[in-house]
Amino acid sequence: RGVGHAFALNGAPLPVLDDVGFDVAPGAFVALLGPSGCGKSTLLRLVAGLEPPGRGEIAVDGVPLRGPDPSRGLVFQDPTLYPWRSVFGNVAVGPEARGVLGRERGRVDAALALVGLSGFAEAFPHQLSGGMAQRVALARALVNEPPLLLLDEPLGKLDSLTRLAMQGELVRLWREKGFSALLVTHDVEEALVLAQRIIVFSDRPARIKADIANDRPYPRHREDPELVEARR
Ligand code: ATP
Ligand code: MG
Repeated sequence: RGVGHAFALNGAPLPVLDDVGFDVAPGAFVALLGPSGCGKSTLLRLVAGLEPPGRGEIAVDGVPLRGPDPSRGLVFQDPTLYPWRSVFGNVAVGPEARGVLGRERGRVDAALALVGLSGFAEAFPHQLSGGMAQRVALARALVNEPPLLLLDEPLGKLDSLTRLAMQGELVRLWREKGFSALLVTHDVEEALVLAQRIIVFSDRPARIKADIANDRPYPRHREDPELVEARR
């Protein structure tokens, strides 16, 4: 509600969000579109509780945010893995921080299987491709089973076939686990394929320019026979 935010740049205030307010229904899949630099990543960081909004209030289930909270799984625009930890170790940071890794090792394995990286648990980040690193970041968020998943262009760096496969996986996971999702993407088709609602922001400072329902039933991929064949 009424969220505003500004950074300081060269001593002058740089307004980034201007009176942004919207509600996300539990279990909804919402895409956020807007020009580069308008403030989308900033908004996700605020919703994740990584910094407090300059103005306004952000609440989850009616409870205002107080600091970072792993119940909002955030997948950053860059995967930001710990280079000195294995793939397994990177995905395990959440369960470890909650002190439950002992009984949740199976969940780490399951999260890696979900993103197709079971064989890479012992690998280190420098041994992965960019797309694989991004999938590790997705597994790291999913392992905490967050009720709200915040995705900042999570598939932007993947090749188009892997992206199609991951889009399918995301929808499957979302339907199975029932989390709400806020997805920042530059790909209008991706927004149309994945989201039930698309919010379009203006140039910086971000303001809501359009809020569009997308009620076509899933699956929404164009089933191009060649692509389907290539995905096998
Ligand atoms: P893109 O689509 O390119 O990822 P974005 O919509 O995610 O862009 P943000 O990363 O939210 O944009 O940045 C919005 C504006 O805020 C930019 O002008 C950026 O320079 C500025 N900005 C972001 N983080 C900071 C910071 N920590 N300090 C100062 N300025 C910042
Ligand atoms: Mg961004």
